[in-house]
Amino acid sequence: RNLYVHDLRSNAWAQMLARQLQRSNSELSNALEQVRTLATLDHLTQCLNRRALMETLDLESVRRQRYGNSFGIILLDLDHFKSVNDMHGHGVGDAVLVATSQLLRSKLRANDCLARWGGEEFLCVLVEVDQQALLIKAQQLCEALAQTPLIETPVVLTVTGSFGIAVCDSDAPIAQFIEKADQALYRAKKSGRNRVCA
Ligand code: GH3
Ligand code: MG
Ligand code: MG
Repeated sequence: RNLYVHDLRSNAWAQMLARQLQRSNSELSNALEQVRTLATLDHLTQCLNRRALMETLDLESVRRQRYGNSFGIILLDLDHFKSVNDMHGHGVGDAVLVATSQLLRSKLRANDCLARWGGEEFLCVLVEVDQQALLIKAQQLCEALAQTPLIETPVVLTVTGSFGIAVCDSDAPIAQFIEKADQALYRAKKSGRNRVCA
């Protein structure tokens, strides 16, 4: 009989321990999930941050080396964005950045990536594209941006962007392709903005 009571007690004890373990496990995985989000997403726009983007690009490079399919980079910078802040305030500027990221995301495929590259600069990674397809896509994004009102209050606002593209189709370091897209973007700015340069 003593043994029986002892068994019951240790059984209850084990169940309590198991419940406690379960609780702290799920608290830990929630915390881990939060850390992951903080480490990979831009806090304003919820697109990838620069760190997560570099990881994505490294992975795409490895994939390209193995399977041979090129991928593309679209770098874009909003035009005269400083004047949006100056005229309507930083809060409106922030809302425009969020809306821009949502618009871009909605035009990309689920397996393409969108990252916030800098203040008002975004970088898209398009998998499985050649120069022609990348150029067409960038032009679509450029037109969609120019045509779509991004916010409605306190004013209806549209913005334009300047776009530079580069196809990653060799073993050169990824930084070289980003530099290439950046130079193309610079040419898009110099030649009048609201356009794509390759
Ligand atoms: P350009 O057409 O030559 O690109 O002109 P620009 O005014 O867009 O370029 P500039 O680099 O002079 O200004 C960028 C502006 O973007 C200035 C900066 O305050 C604003 N900006 C950067 N990050 C943020 C942000 O997180 N929120 C807001 N509201 N503004 C930002
Ligand atoms: Mg800029
Ligand atoms: Mg700008």
